[in-house]
Amino acid sequence: MKEYLNNVLELTTKRNSTEPEFLQAVHEVLTTISPLVDANEERYKKWAVLERMTEPERIVMFRVPWINDKGEVVVNRGYRIQYSSLIGPYKGGLRFHPSVNLSILKFLAFEQIFKNALTGLPIGGGKGGSDFDPKGKSDDEIMKFCQSFMTELYRHIGQDVDVPAGDIGVGGREIGYLFGQYKRIRNAYEGGVLTGKDIVYGGSLARKEATGYGLMFFMREMLGAHNTCIMGKTVTISGSGNVATYACEKAQAMGAKVVAMSDSNGAIYDENGIDLDCVKEIKEVKRGRIKEYLECHKDAKYIEKTGSENPVWTIKTDIALPCATQNELILEDAQTLVKNGVIAVGEGANMPCSEEATKYLQENGVLVAPAKAANAGGVATSAIEMSQNSMRYYHTFDEVEQKLDCIMTNIFKSCQEASDEFGLKDDYVAGANIAAFKKLADAMIAQGVV
Ligand code: NDP
Repeated sequence: MKEYLNNVLELTTKRNSTEPEFLQAVHEVLTTISPLVDANEERYKKWAVLERMTEPERIVMFRVPWINDKGEVVVNRGYRIQYSSLIGPYKGGLRFHPSVNLSILKFLAFEQIFKNALTGLPIGGGKGGSDFDPKGKSDDEIMKFCQSFMTELYRHIGQDVDVPAGDIGVGGREIGYLFGQYKRIRNAYEGGVLTGKDIVYGGSLARKEATGYGLMFFMREMLGAHNTCIMGKTVTISGSGNVATYACEKAQAMGAKVVAMSDSNGAIYDENGIDLDCVKEIKEVKRGRIKEYLECHKDAKYIEKTGSENPVWTIKTDIALPCATQNELILEDAQTLVKNGVIAVGEGANMPCSEEATKYLQENGVLVAPAKAANAGGVATSAIEMSQNSMRYYHTFDEVEQKLDCIMTNIFKSCQEASDEFGLKDDYVAGANIAAFKKLADAMIAQGVV
């Protein structure tokens, strides 16, 4: 690796020494794009492209006070990372989870700028959220928290400025409360200020399904390039939230047998194939635990999560889809998957595989569909939601799904072409990073030093 790249890596590490997830994400991108940087070193150095790409444009941090059902005042911390507006308004989800901190949101925002560039749509990158834990909270508490969060956030966002959406802990219910409060404060109906809205007030059909469906479209293309297909394959999925549920739905529609799903407490294994209606009832309606699956399916097994090992990766599979959270598939899990004959891993979650795990999988001939590319269907469909809001018009479900399919197919092609161009055959991780970085670097240089 050349001096320039090393120097920037060193500087970033020094500046962000307390942010391991952010450094992990930066390290992965910078090391995999080294052939591109080598080919453009003088130009990138002159314009400080790497230095600027590793520093967010703006970070907003704020207090979120709210009153719980017992009448107590609770204070959480809110964040919005406005990472890059190079190719459009900041765009990226909000995460509500007790683990949320600056490092996690900066890594997510950093990943988002590349992902959004890969979609080919005019969206910049951002991310936000809070350390608020929605689990076990009443609807009333969720609403009060969302209203307080938006009372500060509203001044930093707008349909041409920054457009948040959902992520872990933020689904249709939370987006509704956030939108209601924004509209009330602004006294204007700016539909495109948030995406992931319900259909009845400006949401897009197929947005809910988009990340999971998109992941399977990418997987179809990747397997197709290796003369195989999804039909007849066994699939295991971590998580049972938005991404996991709709990845499962599309995998089943494509003829795969999904045998496992999970939540943060453990995994279910159903050798007859997961009954997705049952999972949806538990997760989307009752907001319960995945263990409850056994109440309807006595033959299924439940494996409780005890140590650091993720129980879902101990199950034999052809295709593994990590769709829960970052670093949920580490080296030991990768070793187990390889031992059990996995052929492909598709990252539905953001950075779910550790760097060591990814390297091990690739070295052992496993195809890896990287998150930035493979889970970009959600944000792409959010951009389609924004365009429908601007046009004051609705596309049908089939129209949106067709656009999504086309976008995911093109993303796969971009990853493949970029990896081929630099002689990195089948390395779609590097391909995604190179294709996205090149586009952002060109935009950065074109716009001067800002
Ligand atoms: P949800 O909140 O709908 O679901 C998250 C799922 O992951 C739940 O099953 C949850 O279990 C599990 N999970 C969360 N944290 C952990 C943890 N620390 N350890 C183990 N399991 C955990 O979120 P989404 O499905 O929306 O998001 C999942 C992933 O996909 C995230 O990485 C997100 O950034 C990424 N993503 C989401 C997009 C979207 O459109 N929603 C778009 C692109 C990426 P439990 O209920 O027990 O917490």
